[in-house]
Amino acid sequence: MHDSLMPNYQRLPVCFERGDGCNLFDSKGEKYIDALSGIAVCGLGHAHPRLSAALSDQVSKLWHTSNLYRIELQEQLADRLASLSGLNSAFFCNSGAEANEAAIKLARKYAHDRGITKPVILSMEGSFHGRTLGALSATGNEKAHTGFYPLLAGFEHFEFGCTKEVERRAVDKNVIAVLVEPIQGEGGVVVPEKNYLKKLREICNVTDSLLMVDEVQTGIGRTGNWFAFQKDGIVPDVLSLAKGLGNGIPIGACLASEKLSSTFSSGAHGTTFGGNPLACRVALSVLDTILDEALLERAHSLGEFFITEFTKNLAGLKRVRDIRGQGLMIGIELDIPCGELVMMALKKHVLINVANTNTVRLLPPLIMANDEAKKVINTVSECVTEFLEKTS
Ligand SMILES: *Cc1c(COP(=O)(O)O)cnc(C)c1O
Repeated sequence: MHDSLMPNYQRLPVCFERGDGCNLFDSKGEKYIDALSGIAVCGLGHAHPRLSAALSDQVSKLWHTSNLYRIELQEQLADRLASLSGLNSAFFCNSGAEANEAAIKLARKYAHDRGITKPVILSMEGSFHGRTLGALSATGNEKAHTGFYPLLAGFEHFEFGCTKEVERRAVDKNVIAVLVEPIQGEGGVVVPEKNYLKKLREICNVTDSLLMVDEVQTGIGRTGNWFAFQKDGIVPDVLSLAKGLGNGIPIGACLASEKLSSTFSSGAHGTTFGGNPLACRVALSVLDTILDEALLERAHSLGEFFITEFTKNLAGLKRVRDIRGQGLMIGIELDIPCGELVMMALKKHVLINVANTNTVRLLPPLIMANDEAKKVINTVSECVTEFLEKTS
């Protein structure tokens, strides 16, 4: 712990100085494999030559002008994201929480314009939408709420993966939106049944509510599609993005369908930094690189390889409850808390995470090579096996 920093993070005893692809190097020059991508951020790994070139070029040209002026790179990025997602228009900000704040405000404004004065947004138990008060109120995790009451009114939480209660509640005209992650990330890589989003889409169509999909973690190729909702063949009304969009340069986006395209009228919402030339230039380069290096296909096939190999190595162990994932969002759920595994893997120079106390979470860069993936699989399998032997 460092005295002049607030102690809200319990940090691991390592400090990285340099990155290259899937590797990170600490201050002693020791090499680590990053199987987390800085929590689903660096999908193209570290110091990707194409991103570094785009960033350096933009650094010497223009960083910031404010949104009082046209920003051509922001317009280009909005066009690209609209065409990739099937949505209509974008608002750019700097983080996932801000993207969700924009989504929440957009839904409230849309409802307000239709005469609804007590709007309710339905979100899910076990969800994570960010730490600002609006996003935190949408988050379905009491531990994250503790100490911060009173939260924002107008949020109700429902069981993730189950549509029955949502369907019943959504008929109320005050229910203006359903906010959901396609796969819960912080909640422990929870993959719902196939067609969950499709069912929610149908419910929202019937009840005239907005379907708002939080793809801050699942978006930008992470699950093998540009956006995870595409697997269900639907288009949401609102889409939040951040993490992978800038590969580490802070940028978030809230996209909306055509019916919401004029909801944020002039002055209704804003940001100082959001959509600046520097961040937009990098995000455009991220999208180009994913396309040119065929990384959606890569995320899909490498993800299957991870699941197959982990299943071979671990599925027979009694305390391994489930091995699951989609693309490069992978979870290994045990039947006991396993936070210790993070340190065990770190000692073997592999960076992993544990979510929801009992689920090993991997979010490898989309550019990971086969031999690097094998090293991660072997190390994590060893650590899990060792951990379970020790604790049984
Ligand atoms: C990380 C995350 C957020 C919050 O993003 P920040 O950039 O930390 O504000 C929101 N939603 C989901 C699904 C996330 O995984």
